[in-house]
Amino acid sequence: MGKIKSLVPVFISVILAVSIIFLMGMQKSDDNKNPREIYKVYIDGELVGAIKSKKALEEYIDKEQEQLKEEYDVDNVYIPNGIDIQKDISYDGEILDEREIYKLIKSKKSFTIKGYIINIAKEGEKEVNIYTLDKDLFDKAVQNVLNAFVSEEEVSNYKNDTQPEIKTTGSTIENIYLSQDVTIKQAFISTDELIFTNETDLTKYLLFGTLDAGEEYEVKLGDTIETVAFNNKLSTKEFLIVNPEFTSANNILSVGQKVSVALIKPQLEVVVEKNVVEDVDKPYETIEKEDANLDKGTEQVEVEGVNGTQRVYEKIQYLNGQPQNAYVTNAVTLKEPVNKVVVKGTKETYSGGSYYSGGGTPAVTSGRWGWPTISPYIITSYFEWRWGRLHEGIDISGCGFGSPIYAIEDGTVLSTVSYCANYGSYNDSCGDYYGNHVWIAHPDNVYVVYAHLVNSVLVSPGQTVTKGQIIGYMGDSGSSTGTHLHLGTFYGGTKYGNPSGGTPFDPYALY
Ligand SMILES: [Zn+2]
Repeated sequence: MGKIKSLVPVFISVILAVSIIFLMGMQKSDDNKNPREIYKVYIDGELVGAIKSKKALEEYIDKEQEQLKEEYDVDNVYIPNGIDIQKDISYDGEILDEREIYKLIKSKKSFTIKGYIINIAKEGEKEVNIYTLDKDLFDKAVQNVLNAFVSEEEVSNYKNDTQPEIKTTGSTIENIYLSQDVTIKQAFISTDELIFTNETDLTKYLLFGTLDAGEEYEVKLGDTIETVAFNNKLSTKEFLIVNPEFTSANNILSVGQKVSVALIKPQLEVVVEKNVVEDVDKPYETIEKEDANLDKGTEQVEVEGVNGTQRVYEKIQYLNGQPQNAYVTNAVTLKEPVNKVVVKGTKETYSGGSYYSGGGTPAVTSGRWGWPTISPYIITSYFEWRWGRLHEGIDISGCGFGSPIYAIEDGTVLSTVSYCANYGSYNDSCGDYYGNHVWIAHPDNVYVVYAHLVNSVLVSPGQTVTKGQIIGYMGDSGSSTGTHLHLGTFYGGTKYGNPSGGTPFDPYALY
């Protein structure tokens, strides 16, 4: 008996279990008859659950994200990117409520707000994406960047077509543009991204590529803007951009004053094309006369040379305030020079090349070291820091492709490269930054590189050259952005060749 009694609860529970299974089955078969509309939620393509209403989730997100709304001053917060919600019909499966899905999403992704992605792209360069809530903010920041390189007045005159005509000398802007492609599109932006909400920050980012404050320097006795800039890897122009409270490189620094020495790394490529008219010296030529009555090797100056003046018309292309290309379009003589006449007991000749139809003589310098090009010329880059890199020489432009390049002193040719194509580009450098070039060892331990020449280099290693001798022609080979001579001067060696170990110095120290 005791045995039967004890079986009763077992029996009852079996019945219960069967009926529960039966009931569940019933319910399931009910569902089969009435399929439900659900929304399947995917995170990065992976199904994570289903919800009853997409709208309810969106509303829940929006309600929960008050903090983001306040932070960005927006009315709505949206589902993260990478979340896909798809409508489906289901006969079974678990339905999560919005709160659970919200928690899941929040743990994996950042919510989004509606804004703009500004894509800055250029072939062969890294793309830059800027996120902002306000399209106008970008326009304003670009304007500020532009004003760092060109004065506000110049830009406004250019835009309003009110540039004063150049009557004598001066400059006008012909063109301003970005050399990159800029596309703006509306998008849901993850709050993970750096989203710009004010003009100052965006301007700073476009100029420096960062929002970090950058380094400061405390002014010491004897510092000038020029020396502080150079010692901190900035050009004086860059220094004035990062310290807008100074208006010119001649401004006085006071001891103890803190100045910014942040490095400029522009995210934009602002191109400004200018017409420039300036008056420069027209150098005299030296005419040699033979005199049979004079001993061989002696010479006498019959007439002293006097430079004249010429008005030179130039087109100069600037990239972020730095000259990149310069052309002389015309030169008009205002005052003829008086040629120097030298009487020689013997006539000395050397055969220059015939590449350049204009002939010419080197521009005259007053001192011992000669000038490497003809005149007129334009200095497009000085020996200074630019975008965080030292430009180890000066760039001389405006003399024309194929114009002669002269040795600046007597010397011995150390090495030459003449296999590069005559036209290079900044990225295509024929394996040699300098392109076709000549290294010459001059007196006083001065080593000079004459770079970016055309490939008809006229000298070879071991050859001795004399001051004023044509060694090659101005070109555009190697890492070059236009026709120019890069004149690099080094003390004690060539730095990059044999003998190495040279220290670069400003070529102007010679003149
Ligand atoms: Zn250069």
